[in-house]
Amino acid sequence: MSLIVQKFGGSSVANADRVRNVARIVADTYRAGNDVVVVVSAQGDTTDDLIAKAAEITAKAPRREMDVLLSAGEQISVALLSMALGELGCPAVSLLGWQAGFQTSSSYGSARIKNISAERLRVELGRKNICVVAGFQGICKYDDVTTLGRGGSDTSAVALAAALRADRCQIFTDVEGVYTADPRKLPGARKLQEITYDEMLELATLGAQVLNNRSVEMAKKYHVELEVLSSLARKPGTIVKEVTTMEKMLVRGVTKDADTARISVIGVPDVPGVAFKLFSRLAAKNINVDIILQSVGRDGTKDISFTVGRSNARESVEILQAMDILDGLQVVADTAVAKISVVGAGMETHPGTASQMFEALFSADINIQMISTSEIKISVLIDETSADRAVAAVHRAFFPEG
Ligand code: ADP
Ligand code: ASP
Ligand code: MG
Repeated sequence: MSLIVQKFGGSSVANADRVRNVARIVADTYRAGNDVVVVVSAQGDTTDDLIAKAAEITAKAPRREMDVLLSAGEQISVALLSMALGELGCPAVSLLGWQAGFQTSSSYGSARIKNISAERLRVELGRKNICVVAGFQGICKYDDVTTLGRGGSDTSAVALAAALRADRCQIFTDVEGVYTADPRKLPGARKLQEITYDEMLELATLGAQVLNNRSVEMAKKYHVELEVLSSLARKPGTIVKEVTTMEKMLVRGVTKDADTARISVIGVPDVPGVAFKLFSRLAAKNINVDIILQSVGRDGTKDISFTVGRSNARESVEILQAMDILDGLQVVADTAVAKISVVGAGMETHPGTASQMFEALFSADINIQMISTSEIKISVLIDETSADRAVAAVHRAFFPEG
């Protein structure tokens, strides 16, 4: 007998038929003699719809109240799935985040899981109940409901698998696994049998939403092996683990991240300390800076460009415009950009990867605005309107028959 954690995302429980389909998968796992803990997300677009409802009332919803509102989506799903399991003759109990023991920080909207007190879950499993747990939510030290940030149910599932020392953690979604590119945008993308935590973390951070990046971080930290698979096709999915054995690939995937903006400051004094002052001011406001580019100094001045998340673009410009050392200088934001990346542990020992990527972009007549690299990824910033074409061209270069 094993303890298995199964997570189902929003599209897997989008309507009554899908809920019944999930109940059958869970029931089969339970009837095979396993203890089962299920984590579910809100149905379909429920979370987006709830955000829109708040916007109808106020442009400045308090974050605490947003969490009360958004957690309602997962509450609906756990109740419906428990009912569907009951219909199949399987004993199931729905549990909200706090009932399942999720204790979090109090940063509403992006709370971190601090601890899971799993006593209640163990009692229910001891009674041979299937536990159906609301993903994406917990409770903080003020006894307030919190949510973990968009896509947070993946993290709930991995955290539960770690806390319960589960034998398996399966992330069911609407595609058959992790692919070399988003399979909905690029039909030629290939399904991967395996991928390492580090590669998956880069893919997730650089735009592959199939797994939330914090869930991958946690899986790596607590050695939770994950399987990403489809709730609609009963086929093996992709295994995410420490070391892969089956495929040796230079590049594991190509991603697009359109949640980016480029900020440029023209004619900055070419003296020591400018970068420090500029970026420390942004960091003090919690603005995360990604790619940074500085031109060679000329006539005592230089230009500095960097990227931030799109929602931080306007604030970044305002912060820089208010700085004395940049007084009177032109600060511009361009939000019509996207970041395209290739990820793969193999490129660490293969120097030609960057030029292969740049050649693919050149052949597609796409201009590169910025470049950044690490051991296992290369990212370029390009014009947003060329982004899908760029993913296709780069993917073709690394996966010619795809
Ligand atoms: P869920 O609701 O199950 O959490 P998500 O919508 O969050 O599902 O994630 C699944 C989606 O991720 C897929 O429908 C797919 O379009 C997208 N996706 C993006 N990049 C990839 C990739 N490299 N491999 C698989 N899916 C990807
Ligand atoms: N329902 C939440 C969201 O849409 C959490 C999740 O789906 O993982 O972001
Ligand atoms: Mg998701």
